[in-house]
This record gives sequence, C-alpha cells and structure tokens, in this order.
Amino acid sequence: MDVYGLIGNPVGHSLSPPMHEAGYEALDVDARYVTFEPPKDGAAAAVEGAADLGVAGLNVTIPFKQDVLAAVEPDSLARRIGAVNTVDFSGGEPTGHNTDAVGATRALRAHDVALSGTAVVVGAGGAGRAVAFGLADEGMTVRVANRTESKAHDLADEVREATGHSLDALPELLADADVLVNATSVGMESDESPVPADALHGDLGVLDAVYRPLETRLLRDAADAGATTVDGAWMLLYQGVEAFERWTGREAPVDAMNEALRERL
Ligand code: NAP
Repeated sequence: MDVYGLIGNPVGHSLSPPMHEAGYEALDVDARYVTFEPPKDGAAAAVEGAADLGVAGLNVTIPFKQDVLAAVEPDSLARRIGAVNTVDFSGGEPTGHNTDAVGATRALRAHDVALSGTAVVVGAGGAGRAVAFGLADEGMTVRVANRTESKAHDLADEVREATGHSLDALPELLADADVLVNATSVGMESDESPVPADALHGDLGVLDAVYRPLETRLLRDAADAGATTVDGAWMLLYQGVEAFERWTGREAPVDAMNEALRERL
C-alpha cells in the first residue's frame, strides 16, 4: 500500500483526504492519504522523515509552502513561484512542484476559457504568485493588481511581460481583458468583491480562488455581466488532480474526485 499525505499547521478539516481517496477508490489504487501536523519550524524535518518512512508523496500547505523549497529539488515553476505544494519521492531525491498554478489554468480550460490574450490577477500573495506565473507560462499577458501596490510591482517584475497596478486601476485593466482571477481572500469572510461590478463584462472568464463560500459576490456579479464563471473548488480540484497524476502516473478520475470534494463544501 502506498501512503500519501498532507503537511500543514493547522491541518484541520482539509478537503484533500476525501478527494484523493475517492480517486484511489475509483481506480482501485491501493493507497491511503493522511494528514500530518508538524511543528511550525519543522518543514525540512517532516520531508526528511516522510522520505525515511517511505511516504510516496506529500502535499504541503500553510505555513510550510516556502520552507519546503529548501528541503527538495524544486522544478523551475516552483522555484520561480517560491513555493512548493507537492513533493514527489519516487526518484532518488525528493522533488518539489507547485500545482496551484496548473490548478488555476486547468480549471479555466475545463470551462472552455481560452488562455490567450490578457489576464488580470487580483492579489499578489501566495495564490496570486502561482496564478500569475501559471497564466504567463500559457502565453498570456498578465496585469497584477493588489491592495498593497508595491507588491504588485514586485511580482510583475518577476513575471514575463507583466505589469503591476493598484486596485483603483481595475476598471481600466479589465476593459479589454480576457481572464480575471481573484487571488485575494476578499469574499471569504463577508459578502464583498475586490472588483467593482460595473468593471465586469461578458467577454471575461472569471475564476475566484475563494472556495468558501463557493458562490462569491464576485462570481454573482460576473454571472450577471454575462461572464463565464469558475468557482474556487475547481482550482482546488485540479491542483489535487495534478498531484494525483504526478504521483500515480495515471489519468485522475476527475469526476469522482470532484464529487467527493463538493460533497464536503
Ligand atoms: P496570502 O498570501 O495571505 O495573500 C492574501 C492576498 O489577499 C494579498 O494579495 C492581500 O493584499 C489580499 N487581501 C487580503 N485582504 C484584502 C482586502 N481586505 N482587500 C484587498 N485585498 C486583500 O493568501 P493566499 O494564500 O494567496 O490566499 C488567497 C486566497 O486564495 C485565499 O482565500 C485562499 O483560500 C485562496 N486559495 C485558493 C486556492 C484554491 O485551490 N482554490 C489555492 C490557494 C489559495 P495585500 O498584499 O495588500 O495584503
């Protein structure tokens, strides 16, 4: 039996175990997915310990995504993002990957949103970094807007052909844009949107990384404007699907994993 897992602190009510285990069951893979809560300064020791114990793969969440970088051989995308959310132990040395970026792009593609033209990414934290690099790697021109404008400029400086902006610039940035991603936490705690409703339009594909609640104010406004909407559970699903496929070498049973995830949201 293979053991996969998640390290986080707190790791609490993670949705990853039921999502991955639904995948193993659907494909008859002999594996379990368990959660671990190492101390907050214990990222490297946790990765080493997992390797010693023969753990086949680890997902990584807050607060370990940056610290794990030093304990693995990161791929180019994870190195540029500066964060690892998936560790693979199948080779000699553990390798680090960031499937949040592909989670966002696969979520958009699954809703027939073309990844060409211009994308506006709102937020320059962990999710914003992953999404900005992911969309730029697809060939999109990325505009980053953030409450703390200096962080938008700092991120844009690292991403190919990207520009950084304040949130005030959103109406102008969105006028000719093709894709919008909310990578802030706005919409989670209260029924608010980081984007003015009248800046949205019907030619946009809109992904909200927030998945609690599933139907955010931004997504309601976007649907009213005639945009294609993609909720945050799709991004969560596809980051898990990407990890599942890397670890097992098999095409993930997306429908079974999606069903298990949405049952718990
Ligand atoms: P983070 O690193 O703490 O970044 C938070 C971001 O939100 C920053 O850009 C911050 O702006 C902005 N922000 C916070 N409060 C704000 C407010 N009141 N007004 C405007 N901007 C505000 O967090 P993160 O890890 O990137 O996560 C961001 C969101 O994405 C969370 O809701 C998280 O659950 C979600 N997420 C979803 C997935 C998924 O798979 N669906 C994956 C990862 C994250 P400043 O820089 O100005 O502080």
